[in-house]
Amino acid sequence: PVTVGVLALQGAFIEHVKLLKTAAEQEGFTDWDFIEVRTPQELEKCDGLVLPGGESTTMSLVAARSNLLEPLREFVKVHRKPTWGTCAGLILLAESANKTKKGGQELIGGLDVRVNRNHFGRQTESFQGPLELPFLGEGAAPFPAVFIRAPIVECILPPQSGIQEEEAQREDTITAPSRPARNSVAESANKDVEVMATLTGSAARHATQGRDVSPDQELGDVVAVRQGNVFGTSFHPELTGDSRIHAWWLHQVQDAVKRRQKRSS
Ligand code: GLN
Repeated sequence: PVTVGVLALQGAFIEHVKLLKTAAEQEGFTDWDFIEVRTPQELEKCDGLVLPGGESTTMSLVAARSNLLEPLREFVKVHRKPTWGTCAGLILLAESANKTKKGGQELIGGLDVRVNRNHFGRQTESFQGPLELPFLGEGAAPFPAVFIRAPIVECILPPQSGIQEEEAQREDTITAPSRPARNSVAESANKDVEVMATLTGSAARHATQGRDVSPDQELGDVVAVRQGNVFGTSFHPELTGDSRIHAWWLHQVQDAVKRRQKRSS
């Protein structure tokens, strides 16, 4: 059986567990276990992990106090098991985040990106909008993306996390939007970071309502990225009842488990 954990220190973890179970049922993944993770022992059982939304500073402080920070880093960077962070979870998976108090926030890392926390500011702290997600397949209906004091990926960094694109993923690599993440250092940016979704269309219009933004900004906020087995979304699919991303990610976990079995046999 495959075990998938949801970090349950703070935030919207119950919702993730529920939607993961729904998705597993829909996909016919019958012998999968879904567990809440609060200790290094529980983490050790996992083949994949979700870091939920919530408050990233609190989450990393509690993780440090629970002696989970180093095990989490190992999980992502040494064992390279599939890990998906939503919102605050994405912040923790970034190699760099701004608006963090000095010494106040420890990140796990794994994604060679810099995130901008609370990107949409106070005025539009929360909004929902239909988001095109090419990785859900051609012609897939837009995803009802919920943004709550959400971060965005503002820049792809030079390689530093040590995470590479998985060999097997190359074939199914989605076509990244033609423009790079805003401010990204085109030359040195890690090519293994895939932009999976940008905020466009009515979701972007909603997000930028009443704000003084340049048209360039309106087009290109990066809200989903992948690097090897590490995946991050700015928004909260667990709050929607739409299980498509959860189902997609479970297949990523299954593929990674198969790759690992092949390597060790
Ligand atoms: N603004 C939060 C943070 O910086 C993230 C919000 C969320 O996860 N919904 O951690």
